[in-house]
Amino acid sequence: MGCRSCEQNCLKHCITMIVNKEGFWYPAVDEQSCIGCSECLKACPVRNTELHRNGPRKVWAWRSRNEMDIMKSASGGAADSVAKAVLRMGGVVYGAAYDENLVVSHVEIAEDSEREKIQSSKYVQSDPGDTYSRARKRLAEGRTVLFTGTPCMIAGLYAFLGGDQENLYTADLICHGVPSPEFFRKYLEYQKKRNGGRVVYFNFRSKERWGWGTNYLLKTVEKERAGELGLDRYGSHFMAGDCYRESCYRCPYANTRRVGDLTFGDFWGIVKSHPKFNSPKGISSVFVNTEKGQKLWEMMSPFGEAEAATLEEGMIRQHNLVHPCSRPAARDTFYRGIEKTDFIERVRVGLQLKTRMKAILPDKMIQKIKSF
Ligand SMILES: Cc1cc2nc3c(=O)[nH]c(=O)nc-3n(C[C@H](O)[C@H](O)[C@H](O)COP(=O)(O)OP(=O)(O)OC[C@H]3O[C@@H](n4cnc5c(N)ncnc54)[C@H](O)[C@@H]3O)c2cc1C
Repeated sequence: MGCRSCEQNCLKHCITMIVNKEGFWYPAVDEQSCIGCSECLKACPVRNTELHRNGPRKVWAWRSRNEMDIMKSASGGAADSVAKAVLRMGGVVYGAAYDENLVVSHVEIAEDSEREKIQSSKYVQSDPGDTYSRARKRLAEGRTVLFTGTPCMIAGLYAFLGGDQENLYTADLICHGVPSPEFFRKYLEYQKKRNGGRVVYFNFRSKERWGWGTNYLLKTVEKERAGELGLDRYGSHFMAGDCYRESCYRCPYANTRRVGDLTFGDFWGIVKSHPKFNSPKGISSVFVNTEKGQKLWEMMSPFGEAEAATLEEGMIRQHNLVHPCSRPAARDTFYRGIEKTDFIERVRVGLQLKTRMKAILPDKMIQKIKSF
């Protein structure tokens, strides 16, 4: 799954992560130094799928009260609000951030001013680096730790730590699957050529032009480009699911037995189930899965408005709460030629008639068509 738990847990430091042809990292063991202690396997989220699994106790629809924060967040800013709450009580938070080259990795933040780094979704595999080891150190120091990420990352953390810890809080995301960092790097190179300048900003879930939806916004020093993810060379394949890490298609965490204390997602069903609570700036779904999740929920409550929902309502248009994405035949060949300079030029977007119609027609008309 690429969580690096085995690498971080190896007593002999004989596991390194090697990037494969597709751009995903996998563990490689130096057989000469390996003493066969199996500590790596004990810390593996593929082997230990039953640690800290809980069904949702409560489901909420959530929107942040802070205008700036909700606009910078992917949906209703729930993940951001819980980060704010933990930072205010002196804890540290781990989440996915871009570096100056827009490479995505997990970072530790300890100040409110750093919260922006981990706001919003980066639809690419985030490199956990040494964050599990850092989190273990912080817990040993008696600090409160909030770790946010995809369910496999959270599962990797529990396996790495050998179970739950007193000051540890976790939040997982409803997750489709992750494309390779190399695919995203190639895409940014392509955009650099196309726009005559390096991409300095990329938002997979920009609300600036069209509000809550799946629209990207990229900026070079001189230009801006925005559009629907489903019509973009990178975004359309993220949405179609033919470019995910192989483990995503067999993900044991793509169901309602959640691994995080809280689970966050886009409350896509809100239009039907709670139309009055809907907002053009976005609504998150929040699943409270544990007692600690309930504590987090109470801590974040001052930062937003919430409405109680049912699990069925939270599951509308969320097939990853039922089963992992199915592996399309196109996955077999998707990464073929990724080493070539014109890889992205050769990536097809396809007709995407439904997405094109959605991009043109006003929301009200789409709702009317759907109701027929
Ligand atoms: C790869 C991926 C696939 C997703 N698939 C779905 C889906 O099918 N359905 C759905 O409802 N929601 C999905 N989400 C979650 C959704 O995009 C929002 O992150 C979620 O609704 C929370 O939004 P928010 O406004 O509450 O939080 P925000 O304030 O936007 O916070 C974003 C949170 O996401 C974390 N994060 C961002 N990028 C990554 C990453 N690459 N890896 C790990 N953690 C990351 C950050 O650490 C932060 O905690 C997915 C997210 C990712 C990263």
